[in-house]
Amino acid sequence: MARILIVDDAKFMRITLANILKKANHEVVGEAENGKEAVDFYMELKPDVVTLDITMPVMSGLEAVREIKQRDPHAKIIMCSAMGQQKMVVEAIEAGALDFIVKPFDESRVIEAIQRVLQ
Ligand SMILES: [Mg+2]
Repeated sequence: MARILIVDDAKFMRITLANILKKANHEVVGEAENGKEAVDFYMELKPDVVTLDITMPVMSGLEAVREIKQRDPHAKIIMCSAMGQQKMVVEAIEAGALDFIVKPFDESRVIEAIQRVLQ
């Protein structure tokens, strides 16, 4: 099972995701509220997988993907997107994110994405 860092500015989203992941026996090693924290926590915690929200204050998910991949080219990042963010998802994938999940989260899709990036 994986050690996962959850990044989202909405606490409700972090709780929802944490519940889904814990139910599947994954370990949530940290929760960050913006891209800046995501980069700092990533370096500190070295999680197996990061779930990264796109729209956040201070530093967006897009900027955070670039910053994290620059520090660790092997980082496994899954973007969390909302409706209408296809263009940003494509940019994030180009920047090195491996997959994306769409809000509201579908439990099986979340678990499937985690399994896939771990392979
Ligand atoms: Mg957000």
